[in-house]
Amino acid sequence: MNEIWTIGRILKWTENFFKEKGIESPRLDAEVLLGHVLEKERIYLYVHFDEPLQPQELAEYREAIKQRIRRVPVAYIIGQREFMGLTFHVTEDTLVPRPDTEILVQAAIERLKKMSGVEEARPVRFADIGTGTGAICLSVLHYLTQATADTVDISEAARKVAEENAEALDVKGRITFYTGDLLAPLFKAQSGGAGDKASAAEETAGARYDAILSNPPYIPDADIETLAPEVRCKEPRTALAGGADGLDFYRRLVADSPALIKDDGFLAVEVGIHQAQVVAKMATESGAFARTEILKDYGGIERVVVVWKK
Ligand code: SAM
Ligand code: GLN
Repeated sequence: MNEIWTIGRILKWTENFFKEKGIESPRLDAEVLLGHVLEKERIYLYVHFDEPLQPQELAEYREAIKQRIRRVPVAYIIGQREFMGLTFHVTEDTLVPRPDTEILVQAAIERLKKMSGVEEARPVRFADIGTGTGAICLSVLHYLTQATADTVDISEAARKVAEENAEALDVKGRITFYTGDLLAPLFKAQSGGAGDKASAAEETAGARYDAILSNPPYIPDADIETLAPEVRCKEPRTALAGGADGLDFYRRLVADSPALIKDDGFLAVEVGIHQAQVVAKMATESGAFARTEILKDYGGIERVVVVWKK
């Protein structure tokens, strides 16, 4: 059989193959991967169904299909993911940014914008804890052009990816990256201790944030095995595991963040299913936060908790 592999034919074939292998969105994945190999938008594929693939393109596409069958997420294969209308470079060292996290970003932008006043007259400053690709902090910086940020991740490899993204999005001058455990590098910088950069440490000394944002790991340890193979086997465990009940990071953030947040500021976190009320209660019972808001995601699940100091 010596039929020619055209765009239309290979998409159909891949869709069936992915379906057989239990891939969740077979057609979409086939199109995104082929678009990537051909360096074309997906719409191009639809108007060029009859175009034959070159041997080199075919070889590259076969390789991508093989990876997808091994359950490598599409974002890792093509090395990027769209989030908040921006393109983020993604590697196996970083969580793939999720659409639901846009709820946290939108909430932060709205609130910070209000605090900054007309035309961002007062430049706001925030921190993003567990930054991964930088999806949260870099989006906020992109849309709030006067804002500045400090960001922390425990993974040095993730930090490199986030730095690359900051460069590509042209916001590098407004962000300082720290590698370390949750808020520790920020306290260290505040007390004048050596941060990652001497100038950054000086700049941060004495500073407090209008907001602290975080999408921390929140999956209960025992639930990790029940997640889709793409997540369970391919995404970094340090980005997912939140301790026995999934709430370890919220406990630490609620206890330690108030010292870094201005009196009229807030802490905003993404949470997992059934965690929102618990986290909101944890914050008010701590005595450090007076007011709470809970926001739902696109699927109607309570996804973001915002807690205000007053
Ligand atoms: N903010 C990104 C996003 O929303 O796409 C990534 C969120 S991911 C769920 C959590 C991130 O927290 C990971 O990048 C992980 O490396 C980081 N992390 C895990 N434990 C940490 C710790 N103790 N201190 C700082 N960051 C940590
Ligand atoms: N939302 C991710 C998932 O469902 C988990 C991210 C996190 O733990 N913060 O896999």
